[in-house]
Amino acid sequence: MTAAYEYETHEYDVVVVGAGGAGLRATLGMAEKGLRTACVTKVFPTRSHTVAAQGGIAASLSNMGPDNWQWHMYDTVKGSDWLGDTDAMEYLAREAPKAVYELEHYGVPFSRTEEGKIYQRPFGGHTTEFGEGPPVQRTCAAADRTGHAILHTLYGQSLKNNAEFYIEYFALDLIMSEDGECQGVLCWKLDDGTLHLFAAKMVVLATGGYGRAYFSATSAHTCTGDGGGMVARQGLPLQDMEFVQFHPTGIYGSGCLITEGARGEGGYLTNSEGERFMERYAPTYKDLASRDVVSRCMTMEIREGRGVGAEGDHIHLHLNHLPPETLAERLPGISESARIFAGVDVNKEPIPVLPTVHYNMGGIPTNYWGEALNPTKDDPDAIVPGLMAVGEAGCASVHGANRLGSNSLIDLVVFGRAAAIKAAEVVDPSTAVPTPNPASIQKALDRFDGIRHASGATPTAELRLEMQKTMQADAAVFRTDKTLAEGVKKMEGVAAKLDDLKVTDRTMVWNSDLMESLELTNLMPNALATIVGAEARKESRGAHAHEDYADRDDKKWRVHTLASVDGNKTKLDYRPVHLDPLTKQDEGGIDLKKIAPKARVY
Ligand SMILES: Cc1cc2nc3c(=O)[nH]c(=O)nc-3n(C[C@H](O)[C@H](O)[C@H](O)COP(=O)(O)OP(=O)(O)OC[C@H]3O[C@@H](n4cnc5c(N)ncnc54)[C@H](O)[C@@H]3O)c2cc1C
Repeated sequence: MTAAYEYETHEYDVVVVGAGGAGLRATLGMAEKGLRTACVTKVFPTRSHTVAAQGGIAASLSNMGPDNWQWHMYDTVKGSDWLGDTDAMEYLAREAPKAVYELEHYGVPFSRTEEGKIYQRPFGGHTTEFGEGPPVQRTCAAADRTGHAILHTLYGQSLKNNAEFYIEYFALDLIMSEDGECQGVLCWKLDDGTLHLFAAKMVVLATGGYGRAYFSATSAHTCTGDGGGMVARQGLPLQDMEFVQFHPTGIYGSGCLITEGARGEGGYLTNSEGERFMERYAPTYKDLASRDVVSRCMTMEIREGRGVGAEGDHIHLHLNHLPPETLAERLPGISESARIFAGVDVNKEPIPVLPTVHYNMGGIPTNYWGEALNPTKDDPDAIVPGLMAVGEAGCASVHGANRLGSNSLIDLVVFGRAAAIKAAEVVDPSTAVPTPNPASIQKALDRFDGIRHASGATPTAELRLEMQKTMQADAAVFRTDKTLAEGVKKMEGVAAKLDDLKVTDRTMVWNSDLMESLELTNLMPNALATIVGAEARKESRGAHAHEDYADRDDKKWRVHTLASVDGNKTKLDYRPVHLDPLTKQDEGGIDLKKIAPKARVY
């Protein structure tokens, strides 16, 4: 069947899909470089999930005590459980202070110290002296609304630099040439039902994470992994998808986040015996151990019968010992969230919390310039011409098997900025925009039309719930051979039901039924890659805690997983981790002995 639709064509040097922190930083950087830049986004820019980021953004500014980029790099390497790419992690830690000062100069209203410097708070896993010293205050914050402050500033600056915004346009599919070059993206304008082809010399996917593949997540309902879905449909792989971060402190019931900054400011966890149990598991860093560690300890306490509440199925987070002024000044947003979502006055009572899906370490594989990769046996770092990915949608990989708190916001701006630097090198504004491949456009139109008219028996909401429940149960904090094998089987069944989808609204204007169905077709390959990759990985590393293989196995498994999803089938492959830093030690780089693999204890 060939669907006939009219569409309007727009030509740009660069089109950025997504207007969260990563998309806006890339858009701003590209526009500043004089490239004709469009930013396409399905929600209004300042409603992107980045707006919800509370705790802050990591950079070794040393405003609150000694710190340096090598210590930040060491913490990131250790946090990643030695799966991150060494060159990318060096780039992140070294460029972080510059990227934060740029944000300051663009106008981000950071909280301040007495002397007027940017205020920094402690965060889990961030330490001094290569993990030998006390926790460091490295996380720059605008109270507990850091993401909100960053988004508003970057949006204003992008407009000032004449970037053009296409708001409430839903990107459907990438348009690729016969020989695998990305040439643009086809979009559906939600408020009037028209279709738009953005032809460009470079497409940047900044579409965020896929937290909504799970039942309980801190992320917005819009976090549906659309970039990953688009990439998978082109036969390109997704990387390290089995690593899903559970945040220790989602509010019990709603999943709404209480920032790690709450523990950074002195909050602590207790079990039903009133015990500060983290002292037992992580004697040095206690409640500020890395997120995967704290989430597992909480789960163990609950399993061993020491959970709180009538069902003994959650944990308490105490802030009630902190001075009311600190709570009002440093944590006003979460005080409000606790009141609304848990009915708790944080000055008087503990907050009921539970580990909740929070972040996707995996994504579209890229190098540290944000260029998307299509690894081959001969060249594991081969790039996809014309395609970049940044932010949570991408995998550079700086977070490896586990991301440290406040290392995502810095990832967004460092790599959004890096993508702009690279694009200015490879995109020539004086050349014509290539004509996109008609066959690829037709394929995208046919897919859209097929879903619009889907007349099976399974409603989208029903199938989505089935996927979310399966992922929640079988790709959880703790995993076993049995749960994963069952989960893979179930997920293959769930994904096959996409062929039986029932879409009831066939209109083109504000059709939320159709949009959610398209989102479900994007969530599905992300979910499959996650559980199939997890089932294959016979070790425990970072967020992947495998009960049948309790130890990390660097000999066999210090490799990136590549998952190619086609329908409900997933093919796995692997590529080496980058072990070489950017800078040799005698040229000012880190001492490689300092970041050699060892047991990860906090
Ligand atoms: C509650 C919460 C608190 C957090 N707090 C912190 C913190 O304090 N520090 C930290 O470092 N990290 C934090 N994180 C993580 C961090 O905020 C996210 O990883 C990060 O904001 C993701 O940014 P992004 O730019 O990649 O994507 P997002 O901000 O999710 O933006 C995605 C963009 O893509 C667009 N988009 C998606 N699909 C399509 C499509 N099909 N067509 C068109 N547009 C599309 C959306 O409209 C949106 O503009 C937090 C996360 C959550 C959920």
